Amino acid sequence: MADAQFSTDGARWKAVVSNDSSADGAFYYAVKTTGVYCRPSCTSRLPNRPNTEYFATCAEAEAAGYRACKRCRPTETSKVEGLEQKIIHACRIIEESEKFLPLDKLAMLVNLSPYHFHRLFKKIVGVTPKQYAARHQSLRFQKNLKTSPSITDAIYSAGYGSSGSAYDKKRDQLAMKPTVYRKGAAGVLITYGVAPCFLGWIIVAATDRGICAIEFGDNADMLPELIQTRFPNAQFNRDDVEFKGLVNDVVDFIESPEDTFQLPLDIQGTAFQQQVWEVLREIKPGETKSYTDVAARIGKPNAVRAVASACASNKLAVAIPCHRVVSKSGKTGGYRWGKERKKRLLACEQESTG
Ligand SMILES: [Zn+2]
Repeated sequence: MADAQFSTDGARWKAVVSNDSSADGAFYYAVKTTGVYCRPSCTSRLPNRPNTEYFATCAEAEAAGYRACKRCRPTETSKVEGLEQKIIHACRIIEESEKFLPLDKLAMLVNLSPYHFHRLFKKIVGVTPKQYAARHQSLRFQKNLKTSPSITDAIYSAGYGSSGSAYDKKRDQLAMKPTVYRKGAAGVLITYGVAPCFLGWIIVAATDRGICAIEFGDNADMLPELIQTRFPNAQFNRDDVEFKGLVNDVVDFIESPEDTFQLPLDIQGTAFQQQVWEVLREIKPGETKSYTDVAARIGKPNAVRAVASACASNKLAVAIPCHRVVSKSGKTGGYRWGKERKKRLLACEQESTG
């Protein structure tokens, strides 16, 4: 990119006149009268413009008979370039890594202190290492969709492991476009699987962007209909074989909840609902909050009823833990999939975390 920016003689001369260090590495200038070549940022005396000549590399300048300036030492890697190289190297490591690498590990791999590394990365790349990893992971996920034979493969090969934690809050960036959703998911392929679990039957459905529904039911036959009603114009593909791994992971998560649900979700809802659901995802297993707490948390203390209604419209059972919101009096409160299930879920979570 730097090269394109300094591709004309005019731009190069301007960089030389202003000792522009951002041009370093993009080109070198040589002075015919002295036989010396320099970095653009060199502070030696400004030559006359007609006496200057530009080269892309030191090797080319030397091949033309110039020698390196002793002041700006163009053949040596400057400190800035060295640091940049370390950050570029870190980017490659992130891109190639299947799993999320913690900050201190990354910093160690490029020989920088975690603090210095984080600051430098943000300055050079524009986002934090974590944001870079999340963005890269979702890109990889979308790319995998085009080559993977199944949605499940795409989800797993993008590195969304049930034990990983790379993708915390950026998960929703892949969600189906609201316009598509409003058209009943026309043109969207939804794959689903049904399995038994300790709360009855469960259906897990996914688009190519992530899991779009998790619902409980008393019998297996009624569950596909639930999904079909919600996405009336989608194409459906029932897959109890290949999809089994994904469904089992969801069931495992329900039975022994970890902090947060790690698989990508394709979340559909109004801005208000999404705001409420985001807060629900912060409630840890074994904890509960009241509708009033949630309303206060989103800065709308009077919206208690609207919060309750957003909880009731959640279609991603347990992945968005609306069961962890109870009424202020301590009563269990309502649940889309039945009060009894809510009680059992909460009891199960208390047991496995307490
Ligand atoms: Zn120089």
